[in-house]
Amino acid sequence: MSLSVPTDANEAAASVAEAASLRAPLSITGLGSKSALGAPWNASRRLDLSKLNGVTLYEPEELVISALAATPIETIEALLSANGQELAFEPMSFGALYGTGPGSLGGCLMANLSGPRRIKAGAARDHVLGLKGVSGRGEQFKCGGTVVKNVTGYDLARGLAGSFGTLAVATELTFKVLPRAETVATLALPGLPPKAAIEALCSAMGAPVDVSGAAHLPPFSAQTLGFSDSVTLLRLEGFAPSVNERFERLAETLKSFAIATRLDAAASRSLWTAIRDVAPLADPREKIIWKISVAPTVGHSVAAAIGAKYQSEAFFDWSGGLIWIALDPDCGPDAGAELIRGVITVHGGGHATLVRAPDEIRAITHIFQPQPPALKALSRRLKAEFDPLGIFEPGRMQAED
Ligand SMILES: Cc1cc2nc3c(=O)[nH]c(=O)nc-3n(C[C@H](O)[C@H](O)[C@H](O)COP(=O)(O)OP(=O)(O)OC[C@H]3O[C@@H](n4cnc5c(N)ncnc54)[C@H](O)[C@@H]3O)c2cc1C
Repeated sequence: MSLSVPTDANEAAASVAEAASLRAPLSITGLGSKSALGAPWNASRRLDLSKLNGVTLYEPEELVISALAATPIETIEALLSANGQELAFEPMSFGALYGTGPGSLGGCLMANLSGPRRIKAGAARDHVLGLKGVSGRGEQFKCGGTVVKNVTGYDLARGLAGSFGTLAVATELTFKVLPRAETVATLALPGLPPKAAIEALCSAMGAPVDVSGAAHLPPFSAQTLGFSDSVTLLRLEGFAPSVNERFERLAETLKSFAIATRLDAAASRSLWTAIRDVAPLADPREKIIWKISVAPTVGHSVAAAIGAKYQSEAFFDWSGGLIWIALDPDCGPDAGAELIRGVITVHGGGHATLVRAPDEIRAITHIFQPQPPALKALSRRLKAEFDPLGIFEPGRMQAED
């Protein structure tokens, strides 16, 4: 294995150019927090970006931050927090699921991370303003900029979101930031079964109270976070008087489901971090973990259909549209992929991503939702533009099947 540890963008470009001249496949790591996501493969060369670390520009009044690609997300969040700001898309951490350390800013974009606030604020793709990177030809490029209003031409930085290192190496990224809410409260409805819980979540999302988190934890997941029974959770953020007033209105709207209780700011913050990072299903480590996105109204039916076949535990985020589900390791050689994707199809379509499984299963299973032909053709054209020699992470997304 040949290892290259560049200290700047020029060195990174030279390493890629050398790999390109040899047609040698290259794996790219920032801080290695998501190495277990995607199909496993053994690259002969690795580009380790960990020395590209540091904030290069922060203008709180302009709501922008730029940093080198392997700057830890925690560093960015601490700096923003000290200035009363945040990354509004609330990027999840894979630390609980994989037992790894903090992720990097580059990895955050390449995995298009988001969190419970995605229903309101979107994902990394919706907050990136620009980036500097290196193509598969070893050429440096720059797209977007460092100002919030700067939309000209193709938005390449957004196009790279979710590409898991298969298109380009990011060396420096710029994101927009937003003021952090003054306070937060969570409305909790105890004891609802999944169908009623999702109805409650959807009715809360339809109420004019600006919900920024909508999750349902069935008994197993709820108990891991200290609740005695299932719990349905709605987050409200903003100025204290506004949060209080919206809380009262929401409790009134949902009173036919259950009597609401209130979690204060400190309890809310740790609760939504645990939901964001899938802490309720993280242990035991042998469990297979799937992330499933479907229409919120069918989330509970999808989980029930999977549960009818496999021993499983699940919880719901995004108003029921995101299902995190843990299966027993003996759920078959494909980790339940065929059944899960079949269930999704009969429920109107969606995405299932195999987030945690042993290497031997990940090697033979489609990790990401297989793309329909038109989308696959588009992905191939994008790949041919950015990485015509196919040296970046070949097979990691299995898109070339
Ligand atoms: C070269 C290349 C090849 C690729 N190959 C594949 C591939 O083979 N298979 C594949 O699946 N992806 C592939 N992708 C990635 C794909 O384009 C998406 O990035 C990926 O599916 C993740 O989607 P997402 O970023 O929206 O993530 P997620 O957050 O996981 O969302 C998954 C899906 O959930 C739905 N969703 C998200 N938010 C909401 C919401 N608020 N309300 C309702 N629905 C919502 C959307 O349908 C979304 O696509 C490839 C990308 C590239 C660049």
